Amino acid sequence: MNATSSRPVVGVLALQGDVREHVAALAECGAEAVLVRRAEELAAVDALVLPGGESTAISKLLQVFELLEPVRQRLREGMPAYGSCAGMILLASEVLDTRADAEHLSGIDMTVRRNAFGRQVDSFETDLDFAGLDGPVRAVFIRAPWVERVGPGVEVLARVPDGPFAGRIVAARQGDVVATSFHPEVTGDLRVHRLFVDLVRARG
Ligand code: GLN
Repeated sequence: MNATSSRPVVGVLALQGDVREHVAALAECGAEAVLVRRAEELAAVDALVLPGGESTAISKLLQVFELLEPVRQRLREGMPAYGSCAGMILLASEVLDTRADAEHLSGIDMTVRRNAFGRQVDSFETDLDFAGLDGPVRAVFIRAPWVERVGPGVEVLARVPDGPFAGRIVAARQGDVVATSFHPEVTGDLRVHRLFVDLVRARG
């Protein structure tokens, strides 16, 4: 473990999804970004990023790679984690509109609805305010989930600002676990990753 140094080791769950984009963003934020596919690799990281992709596929692969319980255990022990889109779904404590056999990790006490924005508008972009960040964040939504319920210990970080989905929660945080419905890893705006790397550093 290396959390006290200025270069924390941040794993990216590398079973499926946009792993490379997160690795690049984390490296630019000064973290040592490593791929996590096995329990030994998970044991060596200070924090974990769950990428965007397909949550049901990642759920299945977590079981195949025997990572489901180890990741749950690390989360129970307080490991910081960040999930974008499919990663948000995996971090939820309850998931709506998913497969009956899909597993999730309960890193944040929240109910998430998969593919919530519907088929007609399943991908869109907007600027939104994000708690703790100065100036609007360009948010790219790709068949994204939204958060339907948050528990008492959960901070809402961002909501859809306007349009038919105005007010929907699209970013949340509980302790050191952060989730966004959208994909900051594809925009070149590093502020969400920096916020996450900073909170990993702050645990020192
Ligand atoms: N719709 C995907 C899912 O259910 C998430 C999409 C994404 O990560 N861009 O997992």
